[in-house]
Order: sequence, then structure tokens, then C-alpha cells
Amino acid sequence: MGLGRSTAVVIGSFPIGESDLVVTFYSREHGKIRGVAKAARRVRSRFGGALELFTLGELIFFDTGRSDLLRIDHFDIVRPFSRLREDLEVLGQAAWIVECVARLTADNDRHVALWGLLVRGLRALETAEGPVRVAVCFGVRCLEALGHRPRLDACGGCGRDYPFRPAALGIGGVLCERCARETGDATPISPRAVGTLERLRAVSWEEALAVPLGRLEVELAGILEVHMSRLIGQPTRTGRFVREVRRLSPTPGGRL
Ligand SMILES: [Zn+2]
Repeated sequence: MGLGRSTAVVIGSFPIGESDLVVTFYSREHGKIRGVAKAARRVRSRFGGALELFTLGELIFFDTGRSDLLRIDHFDIVRPFSRLREDLEVLGQAAWIVECVARLTADNDRHVALWGLLVRGLRALETAEGPVRVAVCFGVRCLEALGHRPRLDACGGCGRDYPFRPAALGIGGVLCERCARETGDATPISPRAVGTLERLRAVSWEEALAVPLGRLEVELAGILEVHMSRLIGQPTRTGRFVREVRRLSPTPGGRL
């Protein structure tokens, strides 16, 4: 109870009442937290544009102790990440990243490694070429950070040493053909994709961003989307948005 503060990123919001906004933040000090920003939807709101998705800022809140929702007092922009909203493909990947964080974490569960990864991911999307590559690097390391590291050295069903072909990826890791058929919930994965997953999680963030992916980028993005959806218990909302954007924009980028 009482006044709290933390650096935080806006990872979601929805309107409530006449002019208020319920905002979900992922914060460095408290993990995922939710609060009400009073009158945030008024034209002359004291929050201005600070509560836009992806904004990184200094949050000051008050915990009344009477509700799951905090009272948001101030949110001062540190980095608006506004460029993430200017390109549809980048927007889609950024939204996928914050959705993974929002849906795979519990409230008030501080996780400094995930916090660092979230900020690095958004920063890379703003500055680096290749939004899908950034999302792939984020996805691989997000699984690590949250303790969902898929096992890649042996079949998760029978324990048979990898490599074997064909291989599939299930919730716990690689599966041989027979075990994949038995679980009925595994995605085919190529030997190169297994090797690259291993490499992406072994190297530093900067090195991971520089790993050449070529056509593997599409395979890995698809595999990670399925994997995240399994952990969440349903398909991600932004996965669908990203597929729509691709379908509608024949050229990569999809400028607004
Ligand atoms: Zn097996």
C-alpha cells in the first residue's frame, strides 16, 4: 500500500468509464502492473500522449490496497518508441513482443531479465533492420528468461539423442517422429532451425541480432508463434494481425 514508482513500458490499455483508461505496464521494479489513469481520454489530459502502447517512462502510482488496480498518478516519457507505430510490420512485431510479455507473466512478479529483454527488443525494433529477426531473437530469449527453455539435445518423449530426422518441436523441446505423433501437438522443425535456435540462445543479444537467418527467419517466426500460443493457451492476437499485414502488403515493410 502507498506510493510506488518504477521505470515501466506500456504493454496494453483499454477504456473504462467516460474518460478513464486502464493501463497495463511492465515495470522494472514490480513486473506486470495495472492501473487506472483518471481522465486519460480527455483531450486535455495531463497524461498527454504518454500512455501510448510501447512508451517507456517513469511511473508513479498509488496503491490503495482496495483494488487490483493501482491509481496512476504520473507517467513521464523517457522514450516514446513512436517509430514503432509508423510501420505496420514493425508495429506488428512490437505488438507481438509486448503481447508475449503481457500474457506469459503474472501480476506483480518482478523479473529483471525479462524487463531488460523487453526494452532491448523494442529498442532494436526502432533502430535495427529486420523486425521479424528482432522478434525471433526476442522470442527465443523470452522462453529462456521465463523458464520455458525447449530441450534440443534429445527427444522429449523417449530420450533418444538428437539429431534424428524428421524432428518436431513440442512444448518441452524436440520430438522424434513417433513421439511427435503420440503427443499430437508438435510442429515440424528443420535441422537448420534446431541448430539456429540453439545458437540464438547461446550468444549475446547483439550477436544474436547479427546471426544470418535467411529463409530460416520465416520458419523460426512461425515456430515461435506456435510455441508462444501453446504456452498462452490460445493463438496470440498479434500473430493474426501480422499475417494480415503480410497478406495485404506485397512489399516488405507495409508503410502506413
Ligand atoms: Zn522420441
